[in-house]
Amino acid sequence: MELLSIVVPCFNEEDSVEIFYSEVKKVLTDCDFEVIFVNDGSSDDTLSKIKGLACEFSNVKYISFSRNFGKESALYAGLKASVGDLVCVMDVDLQDPPSMLPEMISEIGEYDIVATRRVTRKGEPVIKSFFARMFYKLFNRVSKIDLVDGARDYRVMTRQVVDAILELEEYNRFSKGLFQWVGFNTKWLEYENIERVAGETSWSFWSLFSYSIEGIVAFTAVPLSISTFFGMIFSIIAFLLLIFIAIRTLFFSNPVAGWTSLVCVILLLGGIQLFSIGILGKYLEKTYTEIKNRPIYIIKETNIDET
Ligand code: UDP
Ligand code: MG
Repeated sequence: MELLSIVVPCFNEEDSVEIFYSEVKKVLTDCDFEVIFVNDGSSDDTLSKIKGLACEFSNVKYISFSRNFGKESALYAGLKASVGDLVCVMDVDLQDPPSMLPEMISEIGEYDIVATRRVTRKGEPVIKSFFARMFYKLFNRVSKIDLVDGARDYRVMTRQVVDAILELEEYNRFSKGLFQWVGFNTKWLEYENIERVAGETSWSFWSLFSYSIEGIVAFTAVPLSISTFFGMIFSIIAFLLLIFIAIRTLFFSNPVAGWTSLVCVILLLGGIQLFSIGILGKYLEKTYTEIKNRPIYIIKETNIDET
């Protein structure tokens, strides 16, 4: 029988961990599975709740980080520790309904990946949904890979897919993009948004905003061309203006005028230059963090035998 590894990143989820395990167990009655909880530096009782489960059930594994490294790092650690022929990635807050698991598993074979997407964004602030939609549009236009709107990380993958993802060892991990980048046949299952069972989302508006910038920087270099584009446009305008002013001064002479327009032009160009340097800086920052080659996570304790 095939083994299913379920990778579950947890950050301050003391109320969800036990409910999660019992829900999954209920659904996977005739399936050989292990759950790998990755405690991402929680400051509450998450780790002791996980350890409690691990004492009770032999198929509960855990990895505990030395601090909060973020969900992306937790996913990587979990995937790396997984040994299953099939691997599932799931949130612990039950926003990813375990009831879909049997269907997802049954579709594997015909497909290499069975992924899920939310078709509604019920219970989410309107403004957040709006920006999310804008992000997907923009991202798909400027990058070579296509993200699916509403796609969750919740998915079942074959060993082959997981091994491909693990080969992408970059430090700045935008999982949504990485999952898409490796390719393979994907089947999308749809479901309605479900609100989390306990606790609160750790994503604020700004953290989502900077996450989307991360995604764009990680998967396209198009923003770098923006300065070239503006540079060309303004060079042409400046050249035409130069001819115009030269002719006007020579033939019609001209007392001091145009102070306002001059200031506007200086401010506009200054703005565009700073903006371009900012974009350049963002890419430089990413290159800098990559080149330092620091580990993606640090494990403090685990019950998984490394050998
Ligand atoms: N998570 C994590 N590290 C973090 C933030 C979140 O491991 O720094 C986990 C969290 O415990 C949950 C999953 O990632 O299992 C998704 O987080 P959340 O529910 O806050 O995100 P949302 O569902 O709102 O996108
Ligand atoms: Mg959630």
